Amino acid sequence: GTEPLDELIAGLSVDVPDFPNPGVLFRDLTPVFADGPAFRRVVEGLAAPALEDPRAAAVAHADDGVPGDPGFDVVVGVEARGFLLAAAVALRAGVGVVPVRKAGKLPRECVRADYALEYGTATVEMHTDSLRRGQRVLLVDDVLATGGTLAASVALVEELGGVVTAVSVVVELTALEGRERLVPHAVHALWTA
Ligand code: AMP
Repeated sequence: GTEPLDELIAGLSVDVPDFPNPGVLFRDLTPVFADGPAFRRVVEGLAAPALEDPRAAAVAHADDGVPGDPGFDVVVGVEARGFLLAAAVALRAGVGVVPVRKAGKLPRECVRADYALEYGTATVEMHTDSLRRGQRVLLVDDVLATGGTLAASVALVEELGGVVTAVSVVVELTALEGRERLVPHAVHALWTA
């Protein structure tokens, strides 16, 4: 359809008050992902920001896997909802996908980054050999809230020598100012709520 993508996402997503904790308005995107045409447009939108060159944009939006430069060499997706998106973006662009996982899930040697939560801390990890130095990375997650998870993910990518070309999310919760924690990296959000 020709409906603007932000309106499509806003219309399909479901706001859940007080989940998982009182006072949190949870933005449930599972109905967006479950809708074929919406999911396709979301995946294409997430891939778009790293594409500075219009020729590369044409490649990344092609229906077949025409060889070309999508503007990034690998997509890094953040556990868990980021995995649903990152794999699809990578397939579309003809590149590979690498996971950022919560502590203790990856089986081999990892780099790790701790970050603060409202109550306590959390840790994310990547396999030490999961990126090559200088690899251009598109970092993908579903929701940018405080930005703590994505900032920790950026730190891991950079520790491994990766170059973050852009951070793409479906929804940015602007009131939480997560974007500030990701400076100087460009944040591309398909919907701001
Ligand atoms: P952040 O505070 O940016 O580190 O958020 C961490 C993760 O929690 C993100 O990857 C989101 O998937 C999830 N998240 C945080 N707040 C919300 C919310 N209001 N609605 C949906 N998901 C959220």
